[in-house]
Amino acid sequence: MPFSYIRITFFFVSLCACSSNSQAPVDRPNFIVIFADDLGYGDLGVYGHPTIRTPHLDRMAAEGLRFTQFYTGASVCTPSRAALLTGRLPVRNGLTDDQIRVLFPPSKGGLPASEVTIPEALQSAGYVSAAIGKWHLGHVPGHFPTEHGFDEYFGIPYSNDMTPTASDWGRAQTYPPLPLMRGTEVIETEPDQRLLTRRYTEESISFIQRNRDRPFFLYLPHTMPHIPIFASDEFEGTSTRGLYGDVIEEIDWSVGQILDVLRDTGLDRKTLVIFTSDNGPWLTVGFAGGTAGLLRDGKGTTWEGGMRVPTIAWWPGMIPAGQTTQSLGTTMDLMPTMLELAGASRPDDRIYDGADLMPVLLDPAAEVRKGIYYYRGAQLWAARKGPWKIHYVTRSAYVGDQPVEHEPPLLFHLGRDPGERFNLAEEHPEVILELQEMVDAHLTELVRAPSQLKIPEWND
Ligand code: MG
Repeated sequence: MPFSYIRITFFFVSLCACSSNSQAPVDRPNFIVIFADDLGYGDLGVYGHPTIRTPHLDRMAAEGLRFTQFYTGASVCTPSRAALLTGRLPVRNGLTDDQIRVLFPPSKGGLPASEVTIPEALQSAGYVSAAIGKWHLGHVPGHFPTEHGFDEYFGIPYSNDMTPTASDWGRAQTYPPLPLMRGTEVIETEPDQRLLTRRYTEESISFIQRNRDRPFFLYLPHTMPHIPIFASDEFEGTSTRGLYGDVIEEIDWSVGQILDVLRDTGLDRKTLVIFTSDNGPWLTVGFAGGTAGLLRDGKGTTWEGGMRVPTIAWWPGMIPAGQTTQSLGTTMDLMPTMLELAGASRPDDRIYDGADLMPVLLDPAAEVRKGIYYYRGAQLWAARKGPWKIHYVTRSAYVGDQPVEHEPPLLFHLGRDPGERFNLAEEHPEVILELQEMVDAHLTELVRAPSQLKIPEWND
């Protein structure tokens, strides 16, 4: 019996002994992953934003577990999504083009069919899955969500600025009108982006209600707050923070709607909900971008602000309420966590980069990860072990600065210095050696698995 099952069973036995509201151990829980786009570490009330109101996410955290050190697999959209859905570093599945970084409308490629996604793995355990929102892992035949294990898809297939109406990008005029898709069909072009958050929410609620009697996985990657940002009439002009605040407050409303449906249908006690973001805030777009709070820099960088994201886990009756953890976690851990809970297997012919997070979800003091690898494209730029982080290459501000190589590398203690302000490389050469050892072992293992480094045809 897997370790986590023993823990979960024990937890329920403990609950049953002391609570009259408890329930039997959950057979195949549901999973919901709500994935904001370019939401920064400091953009939610419960993460310290002074003027953006997020009562529903604040309540979600009060009823669940808030991570302070949770990471994405990459600092931009496409590779970050690949990491979440495959449990593997993007460098293992080829979504690491060094020039382009993300898929654009003319791109021909996408997530390779050889990759096994969360919904594909869950199929063997009887799950139904939907992707509702921004996909960005391929928008040509062979790469649509319904060809990667999802039974349903509704949303826009790539970023909302990749349209002829986004006049601030020189190449945008050559792009086709932004498609809104259902399954593999384009059902609208240039949809009213003010309504996307609301429409995704309605679709999500419909999916939950239609599948309340069977195990499901709902993947809800919001289009917002990626630029250009839009909010519906109900929210526009209501936040002290301006339009960006309106957008976040509407996403917060959406979270509230979804958690309410789970409560109303009694599914709350058998559904694990994760709220997180695909990468840090886009800092070079002025008021339209978010903030990483006290973390350094943002989207497109391997500083903490680029890859550490606000993350809340919620599962009433299972995850103890009102907890905060400093334990490490990543979006790549979601796949092993879900598959373990579902009793689903995954192929054993490849290397995974995630760990089952259930021990942390049950006990915030538990630790299941030793380190974090920060890639930019196919290059490892930084690594973290415990509180220490080493930088070999850095750059700042997405679109703009050029990469800078560091020899000797930079060294920061993220416990004492979360803002990466004080380089301790000279004081701690022994720590640099220790981190280098971890990185060397990781890179050696990567080279030993060349069959996983298949680069798909990715650009025109
Ligand atoms: Mg993004």
